[in-house]
Amino acid sequence: MAANGEEQQTQAGRHQEVGHKSLLQSDALYQYILETSVYPREPECMKELRELTAKHPWNIMTTSADEGQFLNMLLKLINAKNTMEIGVYTGYSLLATALAIPEDGKILAMDINRENYELGLPVIEKAGVANKIEFKEGPALPVLDQMIEDGKYHGSYDFIFVDADKDNYINYHKRLIELVKVGGLIGYDNTLWNGSVVAPADAPMRKYVRYYRDFVLELNKALAADPRIEICMLPVGDGITLCRRIK
Ligand code: SAM
Ligand code: CA
Repeated sequence: MAANGEEQQTQAGRHQEVGHKSLLQSDALYQYILETSVYPREPECMKELRELTAKHPWNIMTTSADEGQFLNMLLKLINAKNTMEIGVYTGYSLLATALAIPEDGKILAMDINRENYELGLPVIEKAGVANKIEFKEGPALPVLDQMIEDGKYHGSYDFIFVDADKDNYINYHKRLIELVKVGGLIGYDNTLWNGSVVAPADAPMRKYVRYYRDFVLELNKALAADPRIEICMLPVGDGITLCRRIK
């Protein structure tokens, strides 16, 4: 009885916890994906980092486990080696990336907050992949500007994951399109922005959802109209738009 009760409580907790992450029609279906395909194959270190992050007050920001699994497979499929991540938080997507790329692979990881990165770092170190990461603390935009000015980073990235300040995504895109290889990928995260992209302007929304909504809408239009890329918007996590540079 006790075990059953406990299990029910865990299920209910998880259901709530994942509710906002899912763009599927039913939370039960999302739970099915997690229980059937994601959790049974989630590496122990990713589970540890996910559970550690769940205790953090800003845990709503973390990449979901199904998206972590997706990123991990995507990176292997494209043989990504030289990668970048903008927006690290405690490092769940970073760890998914670090595990997917080869031993001599690299991730330039940027975040304005080092403290949260350092929270997850012991797990990443224990997994033996911290050597692939170069963490830069601070806003990403000036770093990108510097890289473009340097000239030697042009067309050098296989994969770039953007998961930070949504009001800068267009500014990131202007720079990243030069830094990613022709044939390489940029992934913009949260492009369905809590489903708010289709909500009427006067619909009730959390303050931050409303604030960033227009920026996400503008980005989605700009990406669809950009002839330098092919795009694919996937309802994974909170929506991810993959952009493959073609020229
Ligand atoms: N990818 C992370 C994960 O898997 O847990 C989640 C990233 S979280 C949604 C967004 C992060 O972007 C925050 O950690 C925040 O500190 C960072 N951020 C916000 N503005 C930034 C900026 N201008 N440059 C770099 N990072 C920024
Ligand atoms: Ca995200």
